[in-house]
Amino acid sequence: MPAAKPKRQISRGSCTLCGKEFSRNKIGLHLEECWTNLTIKEEHDPRTLAPTRFFRLFVEARDDPKYWLHLDIRADATLEDLDDFLRRTWLECCGHLSAFTIGETRYRWEPPGGFGDDDFFDRLDDVFAMPREIRMDAALADTLSTGLQFEYEYDFGSTTELKLRVLSEHEEPTRRRNLRVLARNDPPYTPCLECGHPADWIGTYGDSYETRTICDACTEKKGFGDAQLLPLVNSPRTGVCGYTGVLEE
Ligand SMILES: [Zn+2]
Ligand SMILES: [Zn+2]
Ligand SMILES: [Zn+2]
Repeated sequence: MPAAKPKRQISRGSCTLCGKEFSRNKIGLHLEECWTNLTIKEEHDPRTLAPTRFFRLFVEARDDPKYWLHLDIRADATLEDLDDFLRRTWLECCGHLSAFTIGETRYRWEPPGGFGDDDFFDRLDDVFAMPREIRMDAALADTLSTGLQFEYEYDFGSTTELKLRVLSEHEEPTRRRNLRVLARNDPPYTPCLECGHPADWIGTYGDSYETRTICDACTEKKGFGDAQLLPLVNSPRTGVCGYTGVLEE
């Protein structure tokens, strides 16, 4: 058996600007400083476009705070752009529906081509007294402000729920990129429930219907090769539906 791990792990992650590692609680403050140090020398060139406005967002899994992200995203990006990023990085398994809830409004994702019947959904909302749902094509500048907290759901069956917070906003003189990951949690240590070594897989195996984790060696040794196992990945959706990890471009 490997040495016993402390019960409560401190979630850590690295700053993508300087590469240094911090705990979840400290990294937000560091990012503000690190970003300021990096951009303080940049000057806006009046011949080019106006400086670009950005929001700094903190995203975490609602029920599992060991999964978290710090992002910079342009204020003229849309909720759909943010949804697309979250799907690619953390969530996408098979094109489920998703929605942001900001205040009283739900912004829902639609499959390409839409549902083709907005009236139908509006009538449903009336019947069930649901909050009004609109499409996700709203710009962040029109929906977010510093200090705002909001929610996101991916898949309305086996739902993965995220909490988001607007930490601050700023302007950048030279950068134009839509979205940048400033920091992300390191993969949490997850032991194999058979032997205690780091797990490679998550799913149901043996006689239990519970979702459990297991390593390669134990899968082979115990003959669970044909069990319902998914790769264990660094995402709040690991082990859910058919999630196998980051979507490649
Ligand atoms: Zn840094
Ligand atoms: Zn799925
Ligand atoms: Zn094992």
